[in-house]
Amino acid sequence: METVVSGIRSTGKLHLGNYYGAIQNFVKMQHEYNCFFFIADWHSLTTHPTPSDLHSNVKQVLVEYLAAGLDPEKSTLYVQSDVPETTELYLYLNMNAYVGELERSTSFKDKIRAQPDNVNAGLLTYPVLMAADIILHRATKVPVGKDQEQHLEMSRTFANRFNRLYNHDYFPEPYAFNFSDNLVRIPGLDGKGKMGKSEGEGNAVYLSDSPEIIRKKVMKAVTDSGPTAENQEKPVEIQNLFDLLKVVSTPDTYEHFDNLYNTCQIRYGDLKKQLAEDMIIATTPIRNRINDISQDTSYLRQVARHGAIKARESASKTIREVREIIGFRSF
Ligand code: AMP
Repeated sequence: METVVSGIRSTGKLHLGNYYGAIQNFVKMQHEYNCFFFIADWHSLTTHPTPSDLHSNVKQVLVEYLAAGLDPEKSTLYVQSDVPETTELYLYLNMNAYVGELERSTSFKDKIRAQPDNVNAGLLTYPVLMAADIILHRATKVPVGKDQEQHLEMSRTFANRFNRLYNHDYFPEPYAFNFSDNLVRIPGLDGKGKMGKSEGEGNAVYLSDSPEIIRKKVMKAVTDSGPTAENQEKPVEIQNLFDLLKVVSTPDTYEHFDNLYNTCQIRYGDLKKQLAEDMIIATTPIRNRINDISQDTSYLRQVARHGAIKARESASKTIREVREIIGFRSF
């Protein structure tokens, strides 16, 4: 069975885009691959979170992924900082990662622009830590978006460089992986692009949003003054609402509003009301689980411990073999 590794950002609530675009695939993937999902708390240190934020962020992410359907019995779900073997591999890989190539990475250049007062070495070596996360489990498949393709190429470079240096075909090459052929793109409510947490207040509907908040956000979604001719093409902000409807509502509901639009009888208020109610139906079971799981400290402790044990089994085997290959011998 092939191994899949996916890092999960340790900050931010999950929105419908994350759920339909990524997590639903993770949930299915668990049955077909040897999956490792880790919460990337070491990566988050590049922006210097406070100690209390660090813990609450990790907890929130763990809770929401469990609530959204990741099964700690089927996959290995762990917190990165619970697996110290990661840092050892990071150190070895750093010895063969060149400053020039790291400086050329697009994400490093973006970060320099975004946080010019905090250009730390952790930012520079971010792709090395990412490579360590992946090849620690000798994974071949990494479910990442296009923005991560360059990092993944660097992971392949570091893996191959290690293999060449020690003349050992040890690490397999990791590649980007689309579990599902039809990649869904969930639009936001601002009438522009996709749903995302950095796109501004009100654009994203979070899995933890209460029904009242969901109704409020959806009713504020951008629309136009309505169609003026039958069967006319929908402008982007209206198409976005229909795309959302397609995801959360039944085909009958979608068709009903599509017909109303095409015959110029649509009332956007009705469409938004229906969309909000269907989003509430889709998210309520998850929100209830979020509330239950976040109260259950002993369950969370058990999940984190179990995940760390499973991840360390795989990681320590790799580190043992890597030490041997590099030439470390005990006396
Ligand atoms: P982010 O934390 O925003 O990088 O999102 C994590 C993952 O969620 C991404 O790599 C995508 O797979 C998925 N995702 C985020 N936003 C959307 C969206 N609007 N539509 C579809 N998938 C999304």
